[in-house]
Amino acid sequence: MLASLLAGRLLNRGVLPATLGLAEPAFQALWSDYFPGARLALPHGGAEDIVELSDLIDLLLHYRAGQRESEVWLAHIVAWGCAGRHHLWQDLGLANRGELSLLLTTAFPSLAALNTGDMKWKKFIYRHYCSKEGIYVCPAPSCATCADYNQCYSAEN
Ligand code: SF4
Repeated sequence: MLASLLAGRLLNRGVLPATLGLAEPAFQALWSDYFPGARLALPHGGAEDIVELSDLIDLLLHYRAGQRESEVWLAHIVAWGCAGRHHLWQDLGLANRGELSLLLTTAFPSLAALNTGDMKWKKFIYRHYCSKEGIYVCPAPSCATCADYNQCYSAEN
């Protein structure tokens, strides 16, 4: 997952910053722990800070698997990816949606498990965030009766 994120940034796919949204010490630890050797210079993807960034990081960290330090990095990276305007897997520079699903189910399994309807991941994260904050923006009481169903559930290709 980390290799795919770095490869995507190297190819300038998605919106992540050149450090994937990590502070320099954490980014350095990512390289030295997983990819020892020469560190590649990555381009900046153009993501700008979003006001809910720290809230999204906290949300993801609340559900981290607790197995690896990289989950903390991934919480920051995924939150930064939410600054983009396309599908989350695309804004993260991943190869496909399956990689994002694997990332989320591995690093944040109890959160990913709540996405029982296979909602688009960014929609799901924001819907979960908003409901925790007591914000209800959905136009219908249930997804099955909602006119916006395809915006939340159709294929993320
Ligand atoms: S389908 Fe409609 S009700 Fe369901 S999450 Fe999307 S906007 Fe909300």
